[in-house]
Amino acid sequence: MKARLAVFVGALPFVLAPPLQAQDLGPHVRKIKDGIYVYAAKPQDSNVSFILTREGPVMIDTGQTPADSHAAMGILKKLGSQPARFIVHTEPHDDHTVGDFVFSPPAVVIAHAGATESLRKASTAERNQKMAAEYPEMREILKGYRQVLPHIEYQNRMTLKLGERTFELIYLKNVHSEADTAIWLPGERVLWATAAVGVKRFPNIRPFLTIPDILASIKLMRALNPEVVIAGHGAPGTTRIFDEMERYYGLLLERVGGMAREGKTLEAIKADLRMPEFDDWAGKERFPSNVDAAWRAVKGN
Ligand SMILES: [Zn+2]
Repeated sequence: MKARLAVFVGALPFVLAPPLQAQDLGPHVRKIKDGIYVYAAKPQDSNVSFILTREGPVMIDTGQTPADSHAAMGILKKLGSQPARFIVHTEPHDDHTVGDFVFSPPAVVIAHAGATESLRKASTAERNQKMAAEYPEMREILKGYRQVLPHIEYQNRMTLKLGERTFELIYLKNVHSEADTAIWLPGERVLWATAAVGVKRFPNIRPFLTIPDILASIKLMRALNPEVVIAGHGAPGTTRIFDEMERYYGLLLERVGGMAREGKTLEAIKADLRMPEFDDWAGKERFPSNVDAAWRAVKGN
């Protein structure tokens, strides 16, 4: 009896120690599944994700700003985790990659082919100067800034196995940047869907991107049958994020197509087109690029 009690008492502190709750990590961290967390300081900021494994964590993107990357480092420490082993970029743009220097070394950075070239051309120094001028606390953080280029560039598909988890990296062509990577965890059924999709946010459709390619990528991602969908920016959700984007592009193509058939010019369409269903979406200044892309799609070029 005594021996049993001793074992029981000895085990007590461990039994009573509550599992770490997401709220202990601050109001901006959301627990997705065991060992999977997403952080964004503001609703439209880029998402930073932490996926813990027995062999250390993998991060997906490193923050909207270097201040967010520092906050992300704090979260990783609170999770009691080892330093990040790998960083996977959903895209090369600054608002997803500027904080790599906070984690690498030792983290190894993985991106799709084309990411290095895109990062080299980016006006990151300018963006950093502007942020340092606007936010005094950023000045200190930016003193440590150094551009980190991907250590590994993969082509088309890549599988990363770490500890008990499998990460499938899937290139999405012409959806947002020069190198967009969706990340699929088949065991957990969690999908990082990149900026190919947004949450109540107009996309920035650059001239080299096409709506048919974006729709094809959404179809490809939906076919994975994910339980959780995490866009590049915005709250984690489900495949309803895909439904909403398809509804948006469907209506956009229908209306631009109709006006083009009436003989309206692109300029006239830009002036006349209304999408009242999406009035609550952020990033209205990007809408003209959406009309351009719809025009290219309906004109077949
Ligand atoms: Zn971007």
